[in-house]
Amino acid sequence: MVTTKISLEVDELPKRWYNIVPDLPTPLPPPKDPEKGASRLQNLPDIFSMEVLKQEMSLDRYIPIPKQVRDLYIQAGRPRPLFRAKRLEKYLKTPAKLYYKSEFYSPTGSHKVNTAIPQAYYAKKQGIKRMVTETGAGQWGTALAYACSLLDLDLTVYWVRAASTWKKSRRHFMQLLGAKVFDSPSNHTQIGKELLRKDPQHVGSLGIAIAEAVQDAQADETAVYSLGSVLNHVLLHQSIIGLECQKQFKKIDTYPDVIISCLGGGSNFGGLAIPFLRDSIKEKRPIRFLATQSAAAPNLTGTYRYDYGDYAEQTPLLKMCTLGHRTSFKPIKADGLRYHGAAPIISALRHQGFIDTISYPQDETYVFDKAKIFLQTEGFLPAPESAYSITAAIDEAIRCKRKREHKTILFNVSGHGFMDMEGYEEKILRKNRSSQ
Ligand SMILES: *Cc1c(COP(=O)(O)O)cnc(C)c1O
Repeated sequence: MVTTKISLEVDELPKRWYNIVPDLPTPLPPPKDPEKGASRLQNLPDIFSMEVLKQEMSLDRYIPIPKQVRDLYIQAGRPRPLFRAKRLEKYLKTPAKLYYKSEFYSPTGSHKVNTAIPQAYYAKKQGIKRMVTETGAGQWGTALAYACSLLDLDLTVYWVRAASTWKKSRRHFMQLLGAKVFDSPSNHTQIGKELLRKDPQHVGSLGIAIAEAVQDAQADETAVYSLGSVLNHVLLHQSIIGLECQKQFKKIDTYPDVIISCLGGGSNFGGLAIPFLRDSIKEKRPIRFLATQSAAAPNLTGTYRYDYGDYAEQTPLLKMCTLGHRTSFKPIKADGLRYHGAAPIISALRHQGFIDTISYPQDETYVFDKAKIFLQTEGFLPAPESAYSITAAIDEAIRCKRKREHKTILFNVSGHGFMDMEGYEEKILRKNRSSQ
């Protein structure tokens, strides 16, 4: 009898996050200012909370998770189970062993709660009254609204109009948690007003929404800005995912050969992979890392260079794999995979050959079909973004079948799809109906 669920006790929840920066093969290129114009780096203390900024620059290998954050992680359901996908393996008739991490158990439906909680905690501790952020798909806004609600902070969310107009339930969820939600571009910031003057129906972009949130936070001394992906401190907080997985694999005396997750800005991929990337760098463990993307925004295939994080060029320049900060991307249902740049840590490791990438067609039928297989075998409805992880895991398992390889594959299911039914309706049900 093979156990399909590998759990950790509450007191086995890791007590420290892991920071890979001091263990990278070469030093991480630091953020920098453009040659002309005002300093962006000098503004950072006005934008971020002190502890988050300290963590962003930290070279400490392990950073203790504060007791109250651990309590809130437990409240949010951590540690999360690791599942062996026995039923999916049987369906695929593969000799590969498939394991997935259940981030879909998060109370707001995604892994983003793992960084929302500590970011809100540090802001509160510093005496901050309000947090400001942007959201694309809506997952990050909801996660931060949840954390702000538990920690009694106000929250303002700038939400990319392209997504906000068709995701009514997500808006209601954020509002129920107490957040103020503005469609972006909005009339609340300079940059928003300028863009609306040119085009009152402007659909916005993540880069524009970031610019609005940064402007808002900078103008208010009692507010801090918060980002849900890309930055070092976000990947640090998300390392809880991979650290738990390492303990879980130890319990069953197993170790993965292949590690897969979807990548938008890099936080769930990084969170899962980073503790294992350490083993790959420091102990030369032979692991294949695979980041899955949409052909609509395959930022890991972009050039590795310094670029802005936002449309309005208010952020410092970050060295990352980028498609360009003014690029606009076709809408896709996996909206969380639509950002121009990948996290500097992941970009550096990609550039050094540690990480492979694959991108799936924009039409998304291919990945939604795989999500349906996962739902019908394992019983969980994945977020559209997570469908990209599942697709790569299934493709890899099929390859193992052809080559008769008994590989152990670990993938992350970063969120649930309960609020993404339109995607499933459009990509699967409607197609089925028209072919009947
Ligand atoms: C935001 C999001 C992603 C993509 O963002 P990353 O920072 O690359 O992880 C993936 N899955 C879900 C469920 C998300 O909400």
